[in-house]
Amino acid sequence: MIKYLLKIFLFFTCSCFFSQKTDSIKIRKIYDYNLTSGNCYKNLRSLCKDVGHRLSGSNSAQKAVEWANLIMNKTDLDTVYLQQITVPHWVRGATESVIWEDEKGKAHQLNCSALGGSVGTNGTIKGNVIEINNWNQLESFGEKNITGKIVFFNRPMNPTYISTGMAYGNCVDQRHNGASRAVEYGALAVLVRSMTLKFDKNPHTGSMSYLDSNKRIPAAAISTVDAHNLSQALKNNNVKSLSLQLSCKQLPDTVSYNVIGEIKGSEFPSEIILVGGHLDSWDIGEGAHDDGAGVVQSLQVLETFKRMNISPKRTLRCVMYMNEENGNRGGIHYANNVKKKGEKHLFALESDRGGFTPRGFSIDGTKLQLDYLKTFKKLFEPYQLHLFSKGYSGVDIGPLKNGELCLVGLVPDSQRYFDFHHSKEDVFENVHKRELELGAAAITSIVYLTDKYGLPSSRKLKK
Ligand SMILES: [Zn+2]
Repeated sequence: MIKYLLKIFLFFTCSCFFSQKTDSIKIRKIYDYNLTSGNCYKNLRSLCKDVGHRLSGSNSAQKAVEWANLIMNKTDLDTVYLQQITVPHWVRGATESVIWEDEKGKAHQLNCSALGGSVGTNGTIKGNVIEINNWNQLESFGEKNITGKIVFFNRPMNPTYISTGMAYGNCVDQRHNGASRAVEYGALAVLVRSMTLKFDKNPHTGSMSYLDSNKRIPAAAISTVDAHNLSQALKNNNVKSLSLQLSCKQLPDTVSYNVIGEIKGSEFPSEIILVGGHLDSWDIGEGAHDDGAGVVQSLQVLETFKRMNISPKRTLRCVMYMNEENGNRGGIHYANNVKKKGEKHLFALESDRGGFTPRGFSIDGTKLQLDYLKTFKKLFEPYQLHLFSKGYSGVDIGPLKNGELCLVGLVPDSQRYFDFHHSKEDVFENVHKRELELGAAAITSIVYLTDKYGLPSSRKLKK
């Protein structure tokens, strides 16, 4: 305990000696550069409009790899390379239709989107609908009530959570596991209320999975407006039947790549500071917030160092991961490779919560690292970043966790993220230039400080 307190004391003492003034001037310059001359918004436009959506295994995902490789080379990084991986290849197909018929025979078409990984319907699946609002209900209805029916999971995201990410995290299990749980009771197919707090007609897709031991049944999301209407009709006993047609299918795995670029460190080149986001996106919309924003912000960090002639002490590495959305193969492969090569990562930051106004950082590291990063908090106050707290970092960098490396997630304001997330509304036009740039400046600034001062780990702090 005494040793630990001494360590804390030493790091805090060190932090007092940080030349706060020099650092605040430098951070001001980083912000100025990003808000006047940075390229992340232009790069996002190009990614969204020249490449478009980019689901793993698709031609456009390959185009995105080429785009990222080209753009990193244009940024004059010291090294740019592709890391080969294999990814799942799921295709949506042309047909997506959910129609329910009321007691008078009138057909009601719903706005739907197959969930990623779902099997198709192989023609039409027609049946009665049963609404489920929690797992206990599924269990208590049991086989007797569920067999031969279409299960409709209608649990909404909890609006009382201030963090919409938390509301999503507490609700997404029905999307991910709904089909594998419902099939145990003999369901024919599954419909899921879209994961958003917005009440509109857009369906939001996303990943789902099957258990190997289970039969596979189709699964689709329907919009919140449609979920509400269907639920009302069920309450009024006005749903005669529902028909589902999906032509999606899983193809064999295919080759793809993580795209990696770096600036070599001048003093401690073997110590790596990683910034990243994921290059793949769902196949509706343009993946602008998820995660085009994180990709272009990460690249902007290295570009800012280059253009401002800041020579990092440690190696700065930007990783554009492939396949976060439906497998995280890029993140897992990258981490395995780090282990195999014995590379030392000091700090890894992911931006994957949309290109909105940054609020701070969630830090997944030791208490010592958390306390240490909190000493930077004052420098961020003029930019209205207040959150420096323990929390989740990101899916792509998650597999790097080893008890020593400090993982960090950029936390933007979360209120509008799920309005767009995984829907056709996730397009370039819905990203705000200034908010995106503020995020890039925030990441660059924390990377700048971490590079300059290092981070406590079990090894000694090199300054
Ligand atoms: Zn994402």
